[in-house]
Amino acid sequence: MNTDTLCVQGGYVPGNGEPRQIPIIQSTTFKYSSSADMALLFKLEKAGYFYSRLQNPTCDNVAAKIAQLEGGSAAMLTGSGQAANFAAIFNICPAGGHVICSSEIYGGTYNLILHTMHLMGIESSFIRPDCTDAELEAAIRPNTKCIIGETVCNPSLAVLDISRWAAVAHKHGIPLIVDNTFATPVLCRPFEHGADIVTHSTTKYMDGHGSAVGGVVVDSGKFDWTKYPERFPMLNQPDETYHGVDYVQRFGLGGAYITRMVAVIMRDLGLVQSPMSAFLLNLGLESLHVRMPRHCSNALAAAAWLQKHPKVAAVRHPSLPGDKYHALAQKYLPNGSCGVVSIDLKGGRAAAEKFIDSLKVCIVATHVADAHTCALHPASSTHSQMTDDELTAAGINPAFIRLSFGIEGEQDIINDLAQALDKI
Ligand SMILES: *Cc1c(COP(=O)(O)O)cnc(C)c1O
Repeated sequence: MNTDTLCVQGGYVPGNGEPRQIPIIQSTTFKYSSSADMALLFKLEKAGYFYSRLQNPTCDNVAAKIAQLEGGSAAMLTGSGQAANFAAIFNICPAGGHVICSSEIYGGTYNLILHTMHLMGIESSFIRPDCTDAELEAAIRPNTKCIIGETVCNPSLAVLDISRWAAVAHKHGIPLIVDNTFATPVLCRPFEHGADIVTHSTTKYMDGHGSAVGGVVVDSGKFDWTKYPERFPMLNQPDETYHGVDYVQRFGLGGAYITRMVAVIMRDLGLVQSPMSAFLLNLGLESLHVRMPRHCSNALAAAAWLQKHPKVAAVRHPSLPGDKYHALAQKYLPNGSCGVVSIDLKGGRAAAEKFIDSLKVCIVATHVADAHTCALHPASSTHSQMTDDELTAAGINPAFIRLSFGIEGEQDIINDLAQALDKI
């Protein structure tokens, strides 16, 4: 089945007379006829549900659809995109480990790895996505457990050279994790380019309607953990908390990583998504293949229009000819890169404030990547505590605006941008 069909029908296959839509199993716990039956679950000798902190059928049906969309072997839904990136890393990188991260990465991921995981005893290095192979190799240490980057970075819109980063990682026996939130599997499937694990904030395009926070971790099932038993003991050595199970031996390369994530990370940290959120996420997935082309075409049309406008100093969008990342976007995202465009206006902070206050169709919101077109002016919102000098030092132009194009009519959006620019 192709992506379009999987978006609608992937994962859940109802039996005769069963609900066509994925049922919301709003139950914390599950009944068994004997404790002997249940004991098999706790020994991981039988698959089954017993408590929704670990696994829930609604969530698993939606995870199965996303695993198919990405071409992976297994997936686990999480309560947020933050939880997904944390779980993806922490599942193979305990205290004493080291993570290499693209320096152009979502701010939440940056804080998570640099500050919070540091408090847990995990070291990190941040490397430019356009670094040379030698620079990337030089960052690898004996305790490096994974490398992580974003297909298309939120918000810088840098495109990761996935196959090049994967080749360097694999040469050193390290898996590459790719956060595919902005591209979605409709536009790019990182496993086809060598990535080993994919994460998403499903809060964005996958949900697509700004209705539920969530995340997902998908395993390609291709990374051979058994070749590096010392680097990944958690997948290759007996887990005493489950009667000595060895995850790779019991569940194979396709099942080891996600099974451990469910059995240990979810059991102990409970980063799960709720069944209701998973149900909403699935409604979004059913139209993902129809929405993504419109997000992309609206963004590209607006970017091309903005580029010619005399009050606009700079426009960034990976699919725009002339963009720094255009060649990589052509390679990895030939059918469109995402719906986000960033611009610098002429006239500084005052011009940006006037512009953003004049928008009518585009709503002002911190969100990105849903059906509604929205705009964010970091200098007067998320970064408003900073002065113009501090912003410039942090690489943020006081006249920088991030536009996330929704799926409304292209001309209505451009007309709205035009009238707001006229007010400056
Ligand atoms: C939003 C986002 C996250 C964090 O996801 P939440 O669902 O908000 O926790 C992680 N990565 C990327 C690329 C994002 O855009």
